[in-house]
Parts: sequence; C-alpha cells; structure tokens
Amino acid sequence: MSIDIEKNINRLVMKFPFNQEETVLYNTQNRSLLVLSNSLFDGNMIAKDVDYDVLKILRDFQMIGTTDDEILQSMRNKYNNESKTLVITIELTRNCFFECTYCYENGMKNNFKITKNVMDNIIFYIFYIEKIFNKKDVDFLQMNFIGGEPLLAKKELLYLYNRIKILCDTYEVDYRSLINTNGVLLSPSLFSEIQNVDILVSLTNISDHDKNRPFLNGTGSYQKICSALTKCRDAFRRDDVNLIIRFNTNGENFTEFRGFLNELKRLNITISQVDPMYTDEYEQNSFINTLKKQDFLQWNSTTAIDILIEEGFPIVYAPQNYPKPCKAYIRDNCKIFYDGNLGLCDASDFEKRGPNIIDINNGKINLNSYFSRIKEWSPLDDVQCRNCEILLMCGGKYFCKNNKCEVERYDLQSFLKTYIKHTQLGNSDSFVGMQ
Ligand code: SF4
Ligand code: SF4
Repeated sequence: MSIDIEKNINRLVMKFPFNQEETVLYNTQNRSLLVLSNSLFDGNMIAKDVDYDVLKILRDFQMIGTTDDEILQSMRNKYNNESKTLVITIELTRNCFFECTYCYENGMKNNFKITKNVMDNIIFYIFYIEKIFNKKDVDFLQMNFIGGEPLLAKKELLYLYNRIKILCDTYEVDYRSLINTNGVLLSPSLFSEIQNVDILVSLTNISDHDKNRPFLNGTGSYQKICSALTKCRDAFRRDDVNLIIRFNTNGENFTEFRGFLNELKRLNITISQVDPMYTDEYEQNSFINTLKKQDFLQWNSTTAIDILIEEGFPIVYAPQNYPKPCKAYIRDNCKIFYDGNLGLCDASDFEKRGPNIIDINNGKINLNSYFSRIKEWSPLDDVQCRNCEILLMCGGKYFCKNNKCEVERYDLQSFLKTYIKHTQLGNSDSFVGMQ
C-alpha cells in the first residue's frame, strides 16, 4: 500500500469535529465510527508520525487504504435501479373528512373512490405483467394505501389486500402493507381482516393538532383519534402490527414534544415509533411553518432524540449505507392514483400524473420507458454527487428535493454526534436502526 493511500482518508468517510480535542471519522459504507484525538490529523490527512497500530485500526475500519477510483468502481458495480422489493402505493380515494391546514391535497379533494376496474388492473400489473409471476426475482411486496382518508374506502382496501395476499402466498412472496390514515376510523375489526401492517397516524399535542387537523366542521379531532387508537390496543400489541405516530413539526409545537410523548404514554398503547417530520408549506395553503427547515433538522438530530430516548421511545432512523436509489427510481415501482393514472411515489403531483395503468396493461405504454428519465437515473452520472462524501446517505439529486443537497429529516453530523453521546451514556440500544 502506498504512503499516500495510508495518509488519505477514504472518500466515503465523513470527518468532522466532535469537540475541541477530538475528531469523528464515520465510514458511510460500513457505519463504523471512530472518535480520535485531533493530534492524529494533519488537515484532512492522517498525520505523518501516526504509529503502525493506529494505522492498522484505521485500515481495519476501512477509514484509509482505498483509492477514489476503487470506491467509485465498487459503487458502480453495486448500484442499479432494480430491487427484489416491489413498492406499490395506491391512492384509494381523494375524499377526506378532515380539513388540515397544511394538506398537500387541499383544493384537489373529491368524493371519488378507486373503481373495481382500476383495482383489477393493479393486480394484473403486479402479478401478470411485470414482476412476480413472470420474473420470479421479487421476494417482497410492499403495498402502501393512502388517500384522502383510505379507510373511507375500506371495502376497496380489503379487496386489494386480500387479492394481493392470496397471490403473494401462492408465489411465496413476503408482503407488508402500510395504511396512512388520519386514525379516526381505525377499529378492532380492521385488524381481524389484515395482517403484516404498519399504521401511520399524524398526531401532535392537542392544541396544535386540533388547530391544524380539524374535522370539516372545524371541531378538533384529537380526542376521537385517541379514542380509536385505544380501542385498537390489542391489535397494536401484535408482532405483525406496528403503530407509527408522525409528529408534523412546526414552530409552535416542537417545544411541546415531551409533553406530547407523555400524553401518548398515558394512552397505554404500544407505539412502535414516533417520527418527527417537517411540515411543508404548499402554495394553495395559508399555513406558514415558523420553524425553518434547517432549525428542524438540528432539533430533530439533537433535542428530539434526547427526549425520545428519555421517554423510552426507540430511534429507528439509520443513515443509508449502500448505493441504492429511493423507491421512485427503482424499476416497476409506482404510485397509482384513484383514477388509475400513474405516478412514482408520494412526491408525484396529482396534476401531473403519468399514463393510466390500463394503458400499461394493454401494452400501449411501458412504465419504465415512460419514466425512463427517473428509472434509468444514477447519481453516479452526476460529477458533484459521485465525488460527494455523503452520497450514500443522501441518495443524490432526487426530483422531490427543493434544496438538492438537503438530506431529509436529519442533519447528519448532528445525528452522529448525538448517537456518539448516547453510546457513551450507555444508550446505544435505543438506536435500533444503527444495530
Ligand atoms: S426520496 Fe423523493 S423521489 Fe424518492 S421516493 Fe421519496 S419522495 Fe419520492
Ligand atoms: S445531492 Fe448534494 S449532498 Fe446529495 S450526494 Fe449529490 S452533491 Fe452530495
């Protein structure tokens, strides 16, 4: 190994100060972390007089010893837009009985539900056209049900779920579903008909929630949601059911986070995770988030983690550590709107939908060709991204990002520093995603 390689920190290793005396090295490929004395460094290089034992540790953790070309070649070999997981997102209806101040669908709601013809075409697409039946290379199917309020189309949800489940069982494909619901219509009977499911409910402290997520008549929905969740308590204890609470964060509610978690605990229900998310502003809404995105990223990477751990909730997030695109960029994955028109993921705009699933099934259009700009995209074709030390964690310049270099939800250095702090305090078990 040449001297230069010994002194150069590998390109996919983040280097940043931990405190006045120490520096963090984080290998974004294997998630190894070292906190080292500043004296071991000479600028961005390893200092000349570092002894053999330290160099051996740095090599063992793959912090040094690989050239940029080798790293790029290894990423090129691993990166592809295929996946053994097929992700299908289905909008069951545009109808909803909430009037959330920040909803991205405001102005686009209607009373329509998905039709049987569209549902049968979805099943036909999944099993007979593209993937599982023909190619046999998919081993997991993720079906996401969204709305409007998807439980206003419960009959349709169960029709799709049951048909897809039978076919998954037949072809020995594992599956999981996710229902993104406002929570009011959850009932124990739903869970007697559905297995392997994540339930995602948005909830914040009562005053903020009732102000931002009221019923159409303006009354608050917090108590009704808590009452529905409590009735489903037995279901949330099941191993195959996860309740995920999404805390839509804004300038008024983030200071109430700890109190909110304590309210949740008083409900005495099993909650798998609480995820603070930034509440976006949309042109058609008057909602203004007085918390700046950058301040949210800092808070979510520090204080929010401290509070979650102190209140006994796990940290499920872990930075991605392999070169793979998000679900929108993977071939065959798509979002199907209630009228059968196609998008790619939650970021796909209803007004700019793609072709109809019926045209795909008729062979008039090929989904991957139609969206080829996305489905064949690679961040390794972008000079800035392929030379970026946080490429694996960021994913690249996805079309959904306003600020292309912003990593969603976390400030990575702050997250890692918080992780190190809690590891030193003996709390590493709380970071379930990092294990
Ligand atoms: S990262 Fe953006 S483009 Fe990719 S699936 Fe998520 S919302 Fe869609
Ligand atoms: S989008 Fe920006 S932060 Fe992300 S990999 Fe590309 S250059 Fe890096």
